[in-house]
Amino acid sequence: MEARVEAEVTRGGPAGAPGHEIRRVEPERPWVDVMGGASRLEIGVLDHGFIALVDVMPRLVPQGQTADSAVVRAARVSYGEGTKKVSEDRGLIRYLMRHRHTTPFEMVEVAFHVAMPVFVARQWIRHRTANVNEYSARYSIVRDRFYRPGLEAVRKQSASNRQGGEEAFDLGDDQQRATAEAFLAYIDRVEAGYPEYLSLTERGVSREMARIGLPQSVYTEWYWKCDLHNTLRFLSLRLDAHAQLEIRAYASAMMALLEPLAPHTLEAFRDYEMGAMRLTRLEIEALKDAMAGGAGEIASENKRERAEWEEKKGRLGVG
Ligand SMILES: Cc1cc2nc3c(=O)[nH]c(=O)nc-3n(C[C@H](O)[C@H](O)[C@H](O)COP(=O)(O)OP(=O)(O)OC[C@H]3O[C@@H](n4cnc5c(N)ncnc54)[C@H](O)[C@@H]3O)c2cc1C
Repeated sequence: MEARVEAEVTRGGPAGAPGHEIRRVEPERPWVDVMGGASRLEIGVLDHGFIALVDVMPRLVPQGQTADSAVVRAARVSYGEGTKKVSEDRGLIRYLMRHRHTTPFEMVEVAFHVAMPVFVARQWIRHRTANVNEYSARYSIVRDRFYRPGLEAVRKQSASNRQGGEEAFDLGDDQQRATAEAFLAYIDRVEAGYPEYLSLTERGVSREMARIGLPQSVYTEWYWKCDLHNTLRFLSLRLDAHAQLEIRAYASAMMALLEPLAPHTLEAFRDYEMGAMRLTRLEIEALKDAMAGGAGEIASENKRERAEWEEKKGRLGVG
């Protein structure tokens, strides 16, 4: 961490009371803005949405460093001076991530301004460790912005996962194309109610009542602030293939904004979280069996669990 070069003592406190000594320490190197002087760094998402990084803590870091420095600074308080000499920042961050020593990552805070459809916001708000302030549809008129996927992006219900819809309709097949078009026509009909929403507010219906008729595809906005540890948790869950495609698009843009900010942390997150795989006791037994030349079958009758193991075996190149 940066060396401290100058100390200056200021005496304070009310007249007559014992003074509080404030020791001012100058940085050895000049401070630089981790956002490069930008007021926001924004990426467009979906048809009308965006995610913009609007603030970071630490915003200023010693020249040549990134927000990773706040993680390292906090971690070194637990390991003391001795470790400082042997572990360089990247190695320490990777150690912390591997061993789930999470609190140092909470020393970095990130704040985003996001515009997203209400159905995405409903999933996002479940991440309770963030601080959120949302656009008020009681106070203000909801803007005329609705999410409308392209025809090629209309997805079928997954046969294997009741929550999922991964596969797009085959637009070369007349029947499937007609179904995808019917879905978009339905979306258009729902959105066509917007002028009525406006006119009802003009006729005196309260905004808090009028908004009840708006669909989940309408866009909302919020400011979302969270520490880096819980932001990575959000990314881990929402970049996953099981998360809905639309929220994944936001998570992916968020990751792109975070990467230059705390590069060692994000690299460790890729290596030890995103690219990692959790094996259960039964899966380890099955893996040992496969490595000993057996069938590598998991000792479970549960169809879902068996399918999950097959998926992992595929990733491991086993069996
Ligand atoms: C693919 C997918 C499908 C999902 N499907 C559904 C669904 O069908 N229905 C549904 O309701 N939700 C669903 N969810 C939401 C999910 O159950 C979690 O609520 C959401 O992912 C937030 O995760 P989290 O609680 O770990 O995050 P956060 O709320 O950010 O919490 C982070 C961690 O802090 C701790 N914590 C936070 N608040 C509390 C608290 N009050 N008490 C104790 N510990 C706390 C916990 O350790 C928690 O893991 C789904 C999520 C995903 C990713």
